[in-house]
Amino acid sequence: MTDVLDAPAAVKPINHWISGAPYAGTSGRSGPVFNPATGQQSGAVDFATVEEVDRAVQAAKAAFPAWRALSIAKRAEILFAIRELVHEHREEIAKHLTAEHGKVLSDAMGEVTRGLEVIEFCCGIPHLLKGGMTEQASTGVDVYSIRQPLGVVAGITPFNFPAMVPMWMWAPAIACGNTFVLKPSEKDPSASVYTAQLLKEAGLPDGVFNVVHGDKVAVDAILEHRDVAAVSFVGSTPIAKYVYEIATANGKRCQALGGAKNHMIVLPDADIDMAADAAVSAAYGSAGERCMAVSLLVAVGDVADPLIDAIKARIPNVKVGNGMDASSEMGPLITREHRDKVASYLEDGGGDVLVDGRESCPDDGFFLAPSLIDGLEPGMRAYDDEIFGPVLGVTRVTTYDEAVRLVNENPYGNGTAIFTRDGGVARQFQFDVQAGMVGINVPIPVPVAYYSFGGWKASLFGDRHIYGPEGIDFFTRGKVVTSRWPDPATSTVDLGFPQTR
Ligand code: NAD
Repeated sequence: MTDVLDAPAAVKPINHWISGAPYAGTSGRSGPVFNPATGQQSGAVDFATVEEVDRAVQAAKAAFPAWRALSIAKRAEILFAIRELVHEHREEIAKHLTAEHGKVLSDAMGEVTRGLEVIEFCCGIPHLLKGGMTEQASTGVDVYSIRQPLGVVAGITPFNFPAMVPMWMWAPAIACGNTFVLKPSEKDPSASVYTAQLLKEAGLPDGVFNVVHGDKVAVDAILEHRDVAAVSFVGSTPIAKYVYEIATANGKRCQALGGAKNHMIVLPDADIDMAADAAVSAAYGSAGERCMAVSLLVAVGDVADPLIDAIKARIPNVKVGNGMDASSEMGPLITREHRDKVASYLEDGGGDVLVDGRESCPDDGFFLAPSLIDGLEPGMRAYDDEIFGPVLGVTRVTTYDEAVRLVNENPYGNGTAIFTRDGGVARQFQFDVQAGMVGINVPIPVPVAYYSFGGWKASLFGDRHIYGPEGIDFFTRGKVVTSRWPDPATSTVDLGFPQTR
């Protein structure tokens, strides 16, 4: 298999993937792809025109009838083959992630593994698509429900999980019998093209999975395309809101997952070392570029000072460096602009900067070392904004009620966590808190593949969470069949409304 990692050119071209083959863009527009660890441009990704998006949609449309008609047993067989190939090539996928996103290789391997879990869930599609049946709902009448695919569906994905988030979408979509057009992030697009090659090798028919690269032109073309039945989006809140509004205005089903500001509450009875380990891991892992990263610690009562001391003691031990280096624990940020934006919160984001990551980062690339700000409060830029970088804020409150109020008054509601030894308070927190994913002594509570992932409030537009049972619902629509086989001799005209009794 040709691997774009092996391309000899210093700046490799990254093409679309349409009808089971690479498709070189014709727009004359492309975007730079960087190795964030060196700051060097490594690739140039094609930006699609409206016509090229249409070409991909038409390929998916042409593939739909046969894919939909394939027996569920055969679809499952292909999904098992996909699972095997993705598993076999997980390190190659991970290397693409590290090369273009910057996250350290072990973290990239973790990303692929969590995506694989969703593919594995989808291997059970025969079970997942089983409908319900009621015999003798009325005399001689049976009623049953079935779920059918929507047609051509699309996924639009963010830069921070270039393999896993697409897997959250395409695996359930194609398992349900849809055909798929992916518009990955233009910042780290290679993993998607590499995955497309694996899907083809696994026996997926051409046209069932297509990739178009690009910017707003490609996104808008998808949102307005009459042959696209549904759009699954993951990205920042302003774009999620835009995508949801335009997609639904164009008659499409849409789930649009947005940004986050995840609060981790630490109660006075928590184990300080455990809470500090969790906070450092969840705030600085993947350089804080996770929608489930902990970005705010809410320290209750007198826990703040010892907790901050424990975190400060750990920060110098976090090894920041090139993600390809096995000793690195935290890589760079995605682009120079993003790195500078994140660093600006240390300049004028509010609060007291206790650890300034600008003072200890590698010279090359887009690095910012772990940073810590104390004394943040609502209204301060570093409290209000999703920073999406290795900057952890601390907010001090005196009671549990104040802590929960902060979480509930925040416009986002993606994830949240509480650290405590008190089971009663933890259970009350689970009951009280307004967020879609809750951790109890678990800092990053990403649901396992057989539950569904999604936030509340400005973290999700739409009514279906992603993957798991809700992902199957999202990519199918229900049909209920009422049937009877009466003796024609008993047939009469009856203008009354059908009764069941
Ligand atoms: P982004 O919103 O900038 O981009 C997401 C996608 O939208 C990309 O494919 C991009 O090309 C496209 N896009 C960007 N600007 C657009 C525009 N003006 N019009 C149309 N399309 C546009 O997000 P990002 O920076 O790639 O990713 C980081 C964000 O994603 C963070 O806010 C993070 O919290 C969020 N995220 C959320 C989840 C979740 O599950 N809720 C998961 C991962 C990331």
